[in-house]
Amino acid sequence: MKSLRTGYKPSMAPEHAPAKRSVSKGSRKSRGAGGGAAASEPGRARAPVRWRAAMAACAIAFTMALPNPAHAWGAEGHRMVARLAQAQLSPAANTEVARLLALEPGATLESVSTWADETRAAGTAPWHYVNFARGGVCSYDAARLCAGGQCVVGAIERQVSVLTSTAPDEERLRALKYVVHFVGDVHQPLHAGYADDKGGNGYQLQAIGRGTNLHSLWDSGLILNWPGGPAALFEAVAADKSSTSVAGGPSSWAEESCLIVGREGFYPETHKLEPDYPQRWAPALVHQLAEAGNRLATVLNGALGKP
Ligand SMILES: [Zn+2]
Repeated sequence: MKSLRTGYKPSMAPEHAPAKRSVSKGSRKSRGAGGGAAASEPGRARAPVRWRAAMAACAIAFTMALPNPAHAWGAEGHRMVARLAQAQLSPAANTEVARLLALEPGATLESVSTWADETRAAGTAPWHYVNFARGGVCSYDAARLCAGGQCVVGAIERQVSVLTSTAPDEERLRALKYVVHFVGDVHQPLHAGYADDKGGNGYQLQAIGRGTNLHSLWDSGLILNWPGGPAALFEAVAADKSSTSVAGGPSSWAEESCLIVGREGFYPETHKLEPDYPQRWAPALVHQLAEAGNRLATVLNGALGKP
């Protein structure tokens, strides 16, 4: 599951309404954030007309372009989440983010969003995901699922603490890089999937004449093959209105992802991808990317937005 357990990927530069929610770390009542989850359920989302057209074209487009194995898996999604959050930073948080990033000339929130994958080692690999029990309830239990804080939920909570602290700037910059990345990861549904197939990495899939797996499909296949490409997807994400008004916390975000994985049809019926799969799951993909960007902004504004 190594480099495969990355999150999403990126695109353009839109405007998004400032997030107005507060984050309560550790909340476990997230399933309730269900408004968004329901809205993103395949077949239930009310997509704008131009969106429906785009989604209709999705299946076709998907048959024309397959994920390029040479492409950095997940980079597009992570950058997209960072870009969305950047546009929603408060002036104070924006200033502090810029001050920390200045330690590495040329760095931007977007450019550092994939650093955690690029530097990942055996000791930090578990920080990118959390495993739930297949067939069980998506209820996060830190003692059972995240012993010692060694999962994406624990990692986010830990790194946010460092970011908020008076630790040296170098440490806080590293924490910023981790937070930007892990908030993206926890919203990729299969980063809160099942251990028995390593979050879909072990679910082999034939996608239009080519072998891949379900995790890679969600990490980047659906993004790279979006009608119009990642840039078009980013426009949809920035315009998405299904984002919940309840921020919750990392544990509830993981539970929401787990619930998506458990929905009927998330795992293709056979190991050959149905042609309409990308279209059916497009609302969930857009919703998760939007939630990640909005929530990342909320986290950063909370951690760095104080004068
Ligand atoms: Zn990752």
